[in-house]
Amino acid sequence: MIKSYEDIKREYEYIRQGDYLRYEDKKNEIYEKNPKLKELDLNIIKLYTKIGMARIENKPIDEFEKQLENIQSERNTYLKEHNIIDDYKELKYVCDKCKDTGYVDGHKCSCFVQKEIELFDNISHFKNYIKDDNFDKLDMSFYNQSGLEYNGTTYKQLMETLIKNFKSQVENMSKNPFSLLLIGPTGTGKTFLARCMGAEALKKNKSVIYVNVNAYLNSLTPDYEGEPLKYYAVACDLFILDDLGTERITDYTNTEINYIIDKRLNDKKSTIITTNLMPDQIESNYLSSTYSRLVNAYDNEYLYGDDLRRLKNVNI
Ligand SMILES: [Zn+2]
Repeated sequence: MIKSYEDIKREYEYIRQGDYLRYEDKKNEIYEKNPKLKELDLNIIKLYTKIGMARIENKPIDEFEKQLENIQSERNTYLKEHNIIDDYKELKYVCDKCKDTGYVDGHKCSCFVQKEIELFDNISHFKNYIKDDNFDKLDMSFYNQSGLEYNGTTYKQLMETLIKNFKSQVENMSKNPFSLLLIGPTGTGKTFLARCMGAEALKKNKSVIYVNVNAYLNSLTPDYEGEPLKYYAVACDLFILDDLGTERITDYTNTEINYIIDKRLNDKKSTIITTNLMPDQIESNYLSSTYSRLVNAYDNEYLYGDDLRRLKNVNI
């Protein structure tokens, strides 16, 4: 199981070893059945060596080249007569795009991204949630229970528009990374919606880290025995930080929260944060740069539920 980047590296080493062994096996099998071909291949190598040496010593090479031509033509005839495809001396790769290195022109190959998605899922176990939390399971009648209306638009209609936006944000996240703050009291479905977006991102082959704020901060403490999530939170395509505001706030936690928000904005990577804190509470609890980023650089979306009466005065 892939549990770290070291494991991915090791896996590519195994793949490359496998490529080589398969290539050796195939070549040996062909040579065993065709000793003549082995002899011809060996003679070709010997002639190349002789030509190389002659060049260095400034000696004539015409005779060697002629011999080489003859052997090559003999070999071609042999291959044809015995129906052997002339690629048994080439290495075959599992992934032709990156030749099993994981990178193409300095960029992650799609096969590497697949392994990364697996790694991130093994770290945050996000796939456990998406069986039940995905847009297919969304029941819009959930948003009907309130009698909330704004300028003749029902809350359900507002949510329909919002959810359409959420889907298109994930759809376009490669080109337009998004930063979303879902604000609302417990029971309004913000975690559910964040996970639905994460599920959509996985469908698009994006790597997702989903984590509750307490679990995230806990993973950064020195005595935590698992894998610290900070690196993965920086590296993933979509980072979902759930329940901001439920943690015990200290200078240390505030610095860490500020770091990840800042880092992902600078790296132009998509992030969803859910919170039950209103902006004024965010302002009083967090660093001023955290507040300013969450309010100015994030899309702020408010969700309303059972607590509607209390929130009815809020302008939506
Ligand atoms: Zn590849």
